[in-house]
Amino acid sequence: MQDKELYQHLLGLTAPWTVSEVKLDMQCQEIHVRVEHPRGTKFCCPECQKPLSCYDHGDERQWRHLDSCQFKTILKARVPRVDCPEHGVKSVAVPWAEPHSRFTMLFERFAIEVLQMTQTVTGTMTILRLQWDATWHIVERAVARGKARKEPSLLPRIGIDEKAFSKGQSYVTIVYNLDESTVEAIHEGHDVEAAKACLSQLNEQQIQSVQAIAMDMSSAYVKAAKEVIPLAETKIVHDRFHIMKLANEAVDKVRKWEHRRLLSEGDDRLAGSKFFWLTSLQNHSEKQQARFQSLCNNSLATGRAWAYKELLRDLWAQETEGNAKRFFNDWYRRVIRTNMKPMKKLAKTLKERIDNIVTYCTHGITNGVAEGINSKIMSIKRRVGGYRNIENFKKAIFFYCGGLDLYPR
Ligand SMILES: [Zn+2]
Repeated sequence: MQDKELYQHLLGLTAPWTVSEVKLDMQCQEIHVRVEHPRGTKFCCPECQKPLSCYDHGDERQWRHLDSCQFKTILKARVPRVDCPEHGVKSVAVPWAEPHSRFTMLFERFAIEVLQMTQTVTGTMTILRLQWDATWHIVERAVARGKARKEPSLLPRIGIDEKAFSKGQSYVTIVYNLDESTVEAIHEGHDVEAAKACLSQLNEQQIQSVQAIAMDMSSAYVKAAKEVIPLAETKIVHDRFHIMKLANEAVDKVRKWEHRRLLSEGDDRLAGSKFFWLTSLQNHSEKQQARFQSLCNNSLATGRAWAYKELLRDLWAQETEGNAKRFFNDWYRRVIRTNMKPMKKLAKTLKERIDNIVTYCTHGITNGVAEGINSKIMSIKRRVGGYRNIENFKKAIFFYCGGLDLYPR
Protein backbone atom coordinates (compact mmCIF):
# COMPACT_ATOMS: atom_id res chain seq x y z
CA MET A 1 0.00 0.00 0.00
CA GLN A 2 1.30 3.43 -0.91
CA ASP A 3 1.67 6.04 1.83
CA LYS A 4 -1.05 8.23 0.23
CA GLU A 5 -3.48 5.34 0.11
CA LEU A 6 -2.56 4.39 3.67
CA TYR A 7 -3.39 7.88 4.96
CA GLN A 8 -6.52 7.99 2.85
CA HIS A 9 -7.67 4.97 4.91
CA LEU A 10 -6.34 6.19 8.24
CA LEU A 11 -8.11 9.51 7.88
CA GLY A 12 -11.27 7.83 6.65
CA LEU A 13 -11.41 10.28 3.74
CA THR A 14 -14.13 9.80 1.18
CA ALA A 15 -14.84 11.43 -2.19
CA PRO A 16 -14.23 14.11 -3.26
CA TRP A 17 -11.28 14.33 -0.85
CA THR A 18 -8.05 12.44 -1.52
CA VAL A 19 -4.53 12.53 -0.09
CA SER A 20 -2.24 14.19 -2.61
CA GLU A 21 1.02 14.17 -0.68
CA VAL A 22 2.58 12.69 2.49
CA LYS A 23 5.79 14.30 3.72
CA LEU A 24 7.94 13.20 6.62
CA ASP A 25 9.84 15.93 8.47
CA MET A 26 12.43 14.01 10.54
CA GLN A 27 13.84 17.14 12.14
CA CYS A 28 10.48 18.28 13.56
CA GLN A 29 9.25 14.68 13.99
CA GLU A 30 6.15 15.56 11.98
CA ILE A 31 4.19 14.01 9.15
CA HIS A 32 2.40 16.44 6.84
CA VAL A 33 -0.54 15.09 4.89
CA ARG A 34 -1.91 17.26 2.09
CA VAL A 35 -5.53 16.74 1.06
CA GLU A 36 -7.16 17.84 -2.20
CA HIS A 37 -10.28 17.48 -4.29
CA PRO A 38 -10.62 17.10 -8.11
CA ARG A 39 -11.38 20.10 -10.30
CA GLY A 40 -15.04 20.72 -11.03
CA THR A 41 -16.26 19.28 -7.70
CA LYS A 42 -19.47 20.85 -6.43
CA PHE A 43 -19.73 21.84 -2.77
CA CYS A 44 -22.71 22.78 -0.64
CA CYS A 45 -23.31 26.21 0.83
CA PRO A 46 -22.75 25.73 4.60
CA GLU A 47 -25.91 27.76 5.36
CA CYS A 48 -28.53 26.32 2.96
CA GLN A 49 -26.81 23.14 1.65
CA LYS A 50 -27.38 24.24 -1.96
CA PRO A 51 -24.81 22.51 -4.26
CA LEU A 52 -22.65 25.09 -6.00
CA SER A 53 -19.50 25.26 -8.10
CA CYS A 54 -16.26 26.13 -6.37
CA TYR A 55 -15.77 29.89 -6.36
CA ASP A 56 -12.17 29.98 -5.08
CA HIS A 57 -10.01 28.60 -2.25
CA GLY A 58 -8.94 30.11 1.03
CA ASP A 59 -5.30 30.13 2.14
CA GLU A 60 -3.84 26.78 3.12
CA ARG A 61 -4.97 25.73 6.61
CA GLN A 62 -3.69 23.00 8.87
CA TRP A 63 -5.26 20.71 11.44
CA ARG A 64 -3.52 18.64 14.07
CA HIS A 65 -4.49 14.98 13.70
CA LEU A 66 -3.84 11.89 15.85
CA ASP A 67 -0.13 11.03 15.97
CA SER A 68 1.30 8.40 13.64
CA CYS A 69 3.86 6.34 15.59
CA GLN A 70 4.69 9.26 17.89
CA PHE A 71 5.04 11.65 14.96
CA LYS A 72 2.83 14.69 15.15
CA THR A 73 0.54 14.40 12.17
CA ILE A 74 -0.67 17.55 10.43
CA LEU A 75 -3.42 17.65 7.85
CA LYS A 76 -3.17 20.45 5.28
CA ALA A 77 -5.71 21.70 2.76
CA ARG A 78 -7.03 24.82 1.05
CA VAL A 79 -10.71 25.01 1.90
CA PRO A 80 -12.97 25.71 -1.12
CA ARG A 81 -15.39 28.63 -1.02
CA VAL A 82 -18.74 28.87 -2.78
CA ASP A 83 -20.65 31.96 -3.86
CA CYS A 84 -24.23 31.35 -2.76
CA PRO A 85 -26.83 33.65 -4.36
CA GLU A 86 -28.52 33.88 -0.99
CA HIS A 87 -25.65 33.75 1.54
CA GLY A 88 -22.68 35.18 -0.38
CA VAL A 89 -19.13 33.82 -0.39
CA LYS A 90 -18.69 31.10 2.25
CA SER A 91 -16.04 28.52 3.18
CA VAL A 92 -17.48 25.02 2.82
CA ALA A 93 -17.59 22.47 5.65
CA VAL A 94 -14.78 19.90 5.60
CA PRO A 95 -15.63 16.38 6.79
CA TRP A 96 -12.61 15.98 9.11
CA ALA A 97 -12.98 19.07 11.31
CA GLU A 98 -15.52 21.46 12.78
CA PRO A 99 -15.49 25.05 11.47
CA HIS A 100 -12.73 27.24 13.00
CA SER A 101 -11.07 24.29 14.75
CA ARG A 102 -7.32 23.79 14.56
CA PHE A 103 -7.76 20.03 15.15
CA THR A 104 -9.37 17.17 13.30
CA MET A 105 -12.49 15.80 14.94
CA LEU A 106 -10.69 12.55 15.77
CA PHE A 107 -7.93 14.47 17.53
CA GLU A 108 -10.43 16.60 19.42
CA ARG A 109 -12.34 13.51 20.53
CA PHE A 110 -9.13 11.91 21.76
CA ALA A 111 -8.10 15.10 23.62
CA ILE A 112 -11.50 15.23 25.36
CA GLU A 113 -11.09 11.59 26.39
CA VAL A 114 -7.64 12.27 27.82
CA LEU A 115 -8.93 15.35 29.65
CA GLN A 116 -11.79 13.33 31.13
CA MET A 117 -9.63 10.37 32.12
CA THR A 118 -6.70 12.30 33.60
CA GLN A 119 -8.83 15.19 34.95
CA THR A 120 -5.83 17.45 34.48
CA VAL A 121 -5.27 20.10 31.84
CA THR A 122 -1.50 20.16 32.42
CA GLY A 123 -1.28 16.35 32.22
CA THR A 124 -3.23 16.39 28.96
CA MET A 125 -0.89 19.08 27.58
CA THR A 126 2.09 16.81 28.24
CA ILE A 127 0.50 13.66 26.83
CA LEU A 128 -0.73 15.38 23.67
CA ARG A 129 2.19 17.80 23.28
CA LEU A 130 -0.09 20.82 23.20
CA GLN A 131 0.19 24.32 24.62
CA TRP A 132 -2.08 25.47 27.46
CA ASP A 133 -4.15 27.74 25.20
CA ALA A 134 -4.75 25.03 22.62
CA THR A 135 -5.78 22.53 25.30
CA TRP A 136 -8.04 25.02 27.02
CA HIS A 137 -9.55 25.90 23.63
CA ILE A 138 -10.63 22.24 23.29
CA VAL A 139 -12.32 22.44 26.71
CA GLU A 140 -14.14 25.65 25.76
CA ARG A 141 -15.34 24.31 22.44
CA ALA A 142 -16.48 21.06 24.06
CA VAL A 143 -18.53 22.91 26.70
CA ALA A 144 -20.09 25.23 24.09
CA ARG A 145 -20.94 22.19 21.95
CA GLY A 146 -22.40 20.28 24.91
CA LYS A 147 -24.49 23.23 26.11
CA ALA A 148 -25.88 23.89 22.63
CA ARG A 149 -26.98 20.25 22.39
CA LYS A 150 -28.40 19.88 25.87
CA GLU A 151 -32.17 19.52 25.96
CA PRO A 152 -33.58 21.06 29.16
CA SER A 153 -35.01 18.22 31.26
CA LEU A 154 -37.42 18.41 34.18
CA LEU A 155 -35.72 18.81 37.56
CA PRO A 156 -37.83 17.26 40.33
CA ARG A 157 -34.96 17.15 42.84
CA ILE A 158 -32.30 19.83 42.89
CA GLY A 159 -29.59 20.96 45.28
CA ILE A 160 -28.10 24.42 45.71
CA ASP A 161 -24.70 24.98 47.27
CA GLU A 162 -21.74 27.31 47.26
CA LYS A 163 -18.20 26.65 46.14
CA ALA A 164 -15.16 28.77 46.98
CA PHE A 165 -13.07 30.02 44.08
CA SER A 166 -9.48 31.11 44.83
CA LYS A 167 -8.98 30.40 48.53
CA GLY A 168 -12.30 31.57 49.90
CA GLN A 169 -11.99 35.04 48.41
CA SER A 170 -14.96 34.67 46.11
CA TYR A 171 -17.71 32.13 45.68
CA VAL A 172 -19.92 30.65 43.04
CA THR A 173 -23.42 29.30 43.64
CA ILE A 174 -24.15 26.00 41.94
CA VAL A 175 -27.50 24.33 41.19
CA TYR A 176 -27.34 20.52 40.87
CA ASN A 177 -29.67 17.96 39.38
CA LEU A 178 -29.70 15.44 42.25
CA ASP A 179 -31.13 12.63 40.10
CA GLU A 180 -28.47 12.86 37.40
CA SER A 181 -25.61 14.12 39.61
CA THR A 182 -24.95 16.97 37.21
CA VAL A 183 -24.35 20.71 37.49
CA GLU A 184 -27.23 22.65 35.91
CA ALA A 185 -26.36 26.28 36.63
CA ILE A 186 -23.53 28.35 38.07
CA HIS A 187 -23.50 32.00 39.14
CA GLU A 188 -20.86 34.18 40.71
CA GLY A 189 -21.42 35.04 44.40
CA HIS A 190 -23.37 33.39 47.20
CA ASP A 191 -25.84 36.01 48.40
CA VAL A 192 -29.60 36.19 47.76
CA GLU A 193 -29.19 37.90 44.39
CA ALA A 194 -26.59 35.37 43.20
CA ALA A 195 -28.77 32.44 44.25
CA LYS A 196 -31.80 33.98 42.52
CA ALA A 197 -29.79 34.55 39.34
CA CYS A 198 -28.52 30.98 39.49
CA LEU A 199 -31.99 29.45 39.95
CA SER A 200 -33.35 31.73 37.23
CA GLN A 201 -31.04 30.10 34.69
CA LEU A 202 -33.49 27.19 34.75
CA ASN A 203 -36.36 27.62 32.32
CA GLU A 204 -39.95 28.14 33.45
CA GLN A 205 -40.92 24.50 32.93
CA GLN A 206 -37.92 23.33 34.97
CA ILE A 207 -38.73 25.75 37.79
CA GLN A 208 -42.32 24.50 37.86
CA SER A 209 -41.10 20.88 37.93
CA VAL A 210 -39.02 21.29 41.12
CA GLN A 211 -40.49 19.21 43.94
CA ALA A 212 -37.62 19.32 46.43
CA ILE A 213 -34.52 21.47 47.00
CA ALA A 214 -31.61 20.38 49.20
CA MET A 215 -29.50 23.14 50.78
CA ASP A 216 -27.57 24.02 53.91
CA MET A 217 -29.17 26.43 56.41
CA SER A 218 -27.93 29.60 54.66
CA SER A 219 -30.73 32.14 54.93
CA ALA A 220 -29.72 33.65 51.57
CA TYR A 221 -30.51 30.40 49.77
CA VAL A 222 -33.80 29.97 51.65
CA LYS A 223 -34.88 33.48 50.68
CA ALA A 224 -33.85 33.05 47.03
CA ALA A 225 -35.64 29.70 46.73
CA LYS A 226 -38.82 31.17 48.21
CA GLU A 227 -38.73 33.98 45.66
CA VAL A 228 -38.06 31.81 42.60
CA ILE A 229 -39.61 28.37 43.25
CA PRO A 230 -43.38 28.20 43.84
CA LEU A 231 -44.32 26.72 47.25
CA ALA A 232 -40.64 26.48 48.17
CA GLU A 233 -41.48 26.46 51.90
CA THR A 234 -42.71 22.86 51.54
CA LYS A 235 -39.87 21.85 49.22
CA ILE A 236 -36.74 23.06 51.00
CA VAL A 237 -34.85 20.25 52.76
CA HIS A 238 -31.93 21.33 54.92
CA ASP A 239 -29.13 18.92 54.22
CA ARG A 240 -28.66 16.40 57.01
CA PHE A 241 -24.91 16.07 56.44
CA HIS A 242 -24.60 19.80 56.96
CA ILE A 243 -26.66 19.57 60.17
CA MET A 244 -24.58 16.68 61.52
CA LYS A 245 -21.46 18.72 60.74
CA LEU A 246 -22.84 21.52 62.93
CA ALA A 247 -23.62 18.92 65.63
CA ASN A 248 -20.04 17.63 65.48
CA GLU A 249 -18.74 21.18 65.80
CA ALA A 250 -20.94 21.72 68.87
CA VAL A 251 -19.62 18.52 70.50
CA ASP A 252 -16.08 19.63 69.75
CA LYS A 253 -16.69 22.99 71.44
CA VAL A 254 -17.96 21.17 74.54
CA ARG A 255 -14.85 18.96 74.48
CA LYS A 256 -12.50 21.95 74.25
CA TRP A 257 -14.28 23.75 77.08
CA GLU A 258 -14.29 20.66 79.32
CA HIS A 259 -10.71 19.75 78.47
CA ARG A 260 -9.54 23.23 79.58
CA ARG A 261 -11.55 22.90 82.79
CA LEU A 262 -10.14 19.42 83.57
CA LEU A 263 -6.58 20.47 82.75
CA SER A 264 -6.81 23.31 85.26
CA GLU A 265 -7.45 20.59 87.84
CA GLY A 266 -4.51 18.53 86.54
CA ASP A 267 -6.77 16.03 84.75
CA ASP A 268 -5.78 15.22 81.15
CA ARG A 269 -8.37 12.50 80.42
CA LEU A 270 -9.63 14.29 77.32
CA ALA A 271 -6.17 14.92 75.82
CA GLY A 272 -5.96 13.64 72.25
CA SER A 273 -9.58 12.46 72.26
CA LYS A 274 -10.95 14.77 69.54
CA PHE A 275 -11.04 11.94 66.99
CA PHE A 276 -13.33 9.75 69.15
CA TRP A 277 -16.13 12.23 69.35
CA LEU A 278 -16.17 13.06 65.65
CA THR A 279 -15.98 9.67 63.98
CA SER A 280 -18.55 6.90 63.98
CA LEU A 281 -18.12 4.06 66.45
CA GLN A 282 -17.63 1.49 63.71
CA ASN A 283 -14.53 3.37 62.53
CA HIS A 284 -12.79 2.86 65.89
CA SER A 285 -10.25 0.08 66.37
CA GLU A 286 -10.76 -2.35 69.29
CA LYS A 287 -8.24 -0.51 71.44
CA GLN A 288 -9.88 2.81 70.61
CA GLN A 289 -13.30 1.40 71.46
CA ALA A 290 -12.07 0.35 74.89
CA ARG A 291 -10.72 3.83 75.62
CA PHE A 292 -13.88 5.39 74.25
CA GLN A 293 -16.05 3.23 76.52
CA SER A 294 -14.08 4.26 79.58
CA LEU A 295 -14.36 7.94 78.59
CA CYS A 296 -18.12 7.56 78.14
CA ASN A 297 -18.48 5.90 81.55
CA ASN A 298 -16.79 8.86 83.20
CA SER A 299 -19.90 11.05 83.25
CA LEU A 300 -18.16 13.78 81.29
CA ALA A 301 -20.13 16.57 79.61
CA THR A 302 -18.36 15.70 76.34
CA GLY A 303 -19.75 12.16 76.57
CA ARG A 304 -23.26 13.51 77.09
CA ALA A 305 -22.92 15.95 74.19
CA TRP A 306 -21.68 13.12 72.00
CA ALA A 307 -24.66 10.95 73.01
CA TYR A 308 -27.13 13.75 72.16
CA LYS A 309 -25.42 14.21 68.81
CA GLU A 310 -25.64 10.49 68.06
CA LEU A 311 -29.29 10.42 69.18
CA LEU A 312 -30.06 13.27 66.74
CA ARG A 313 -29.22 10.91 63.82
CA ASP A 314 -32.48 9.06 64.51
CA LEU A 315 -34.39 12.16 63.42
CA TRP A 316 -33.78 11.14 59.81
CA ALA A 317 -35.02 7.60 60.43
CA GLN A 318 -38.56 8.82 61.29
CA GLU A 319 -41.19 7.87 58.75
CA THR A 320 -43.35 10.97 58.76
CA GLU A 321 -42.79 14.69 59.25
CA GLY A 322 -45.09 14.51 62.30
CA ASN A 323 -43.04 11.74 63.94
CA ALA A 324 -39.83 13.59 63.15
CA LYS A 325 -41.16 16.76 64.79
CA ARG A 326 -42.24 14.86 67.93
CA PHE A 327 -38.83 13.18 68.04
CA PHE A 328 -37.10 16.53 67.69
CA ASN A 329 -39.22 18.25 70.35
CA ASP A 330 -38.30 15.51 72.78
CA TRP A 331 -34.61 15.80 71.89
CA TYR A 332 -34.82 19.59 72.17
CA ARG A 333 -36.40 19.50 75.65
CA ARG A 334 -33.59 17.29 76.93
CA VAL A 335 -30.73 19.28 75.36
CA ILE A 336 -32.08 22.68 76.39
CA ARG A 337 -32.12 21.60 80.06
CA THR A 338 -28.36 20.84 80.03
CA ASN A 339 -25.66 23.42 80.79
CA MET A 340 -23.78 22.81 77.53
CA LYS A 341 -23.98 26.14 75.70
CA PRO A 342 -22.82 24.95 72.24
CA MET A 343 -25.40 22.12 72.27
CA LYS A 344 -28.16 24.49 73.38
CA LYS A 345 -27.24 26.91 70.62
CA LEU A 346 -27.42 24.06 68.10
CA ALA A 347 -30.81 22.98 69.46
CA LYS A 348 -32.18 26.54 69.07
CA THR A 349 -30.86 26.86 65.50
CA LEU A 350 -32.47 23.55 64.54
CA LYS A 351 -35.75 24.50 66.22
CA GLU A 352 -35.97 27.65 64.09
CA ARG A 353 -35.49 25.58 60.92
CA ILE A 354 -37.28 22.40 61.95
CA ASP A 355 -40.07 22.72 59.34
CA ASN A 356 -37.48 22.45 56.58
CA ILE A 357 -35.48 19.72 58.32
CA VAL A 358 -38.34 17.26 58.74
CA THR A 359 -39.23 17.68 55.04
CA TYR A 360 -36.53 15.03 54.62
CA CYS A 361 -39.16 12.44 55.63
CA THR A 362 -41.26 13.43 52.60
CA HIS A 363 -38.55 14.06 50.01
CA GLY A 364 -35.63 11.90 51.21
CA ILE A 365 -32.95 14.07 49.62
CA THR A 366 -29.55 15.32 50.77
CA ASN A 367 -26.88 17.42 49.13
CA GLY A 368 -24.58 14.37 49.02
CA VAL A 369 -24.39 14.74 45.23
CA ALA A 370 -23.15 18.30 45.64
CA GLU A 371 -20.50 17.12 48.10
CA GLY A 372 -19.36 14.48 45.63
CA ILE A 373 -19.16 16.98 42.78
CA ASN A 374 -17.44 19.50 45.07
CA SER A 375 -14.65 17.09 45.84
CA LYS A 376 -14.29 16.39 42.12
CA ILE A 377 -14.03 20.13 41.45
CA MET A 378 -11.46 20.48 44.25
CA SER A 379 -9.28 17.72 42.85
CA ILE A 380 -9.47 19.19 39.35
CA LYS A 381 -8.59 22.60 40.76
CA ARG A 382 -5.58 21.20 42.60
CA ARG A 383 -4.32 19.38 39.54
CA VAL A 384 -4.85 22.31 37.20
CA GLY A 385 -3.25 24.62 39.74
CA GLY A 386 -6.22 26.95 39.97
CA TYR A 387 -8.08 28.62 37.14
CA ARG A 388 -7.05 31.92 35.65
CA ASN A 389 -10.43 33.48 36.17
CA ILE A 390 -13.92 32.66 37.31
CA GLU A 391 -15.17 32.08 33.73
CA ASN A 392 -12.59 29.32 33.26
CA PHE A 393 -13.57 27.86 36.63
CA LYS A 394 -17.21 27.71 35.51
CA LYS A 395 -16.26 26.11 32.18
CA ALA A 396 -14.18 23.45 33.93
CA ILE A 397 -17.12 22.63 36.21
CA PHE A 398 -19.41 22.18 33.20
CA PHE A 399 -16.74 20.18 31.34
CA TYR A 400 -16.29 17.69 34.18
CA CYS A 401 -19.63 17.79 35.99
CA GLY A 402 -22.18 19.08 33.49
CA GLY A 403 -23.20 15.66 32.12
CA LEU A 404 -22.80 17.20 28.65
CA ASP A 405 -22.26 15.48 25.31
CA LEU A 406 -18.86 17.06 24.63
CA TYR A 407 -17.69 15.22 21.54
CA PRO A 408 -17.59 16.63 18.01
CA ARG A 409 -19.49 14.62 15.42
ZN1 LIG B 1 -26.68 29.35 0.83
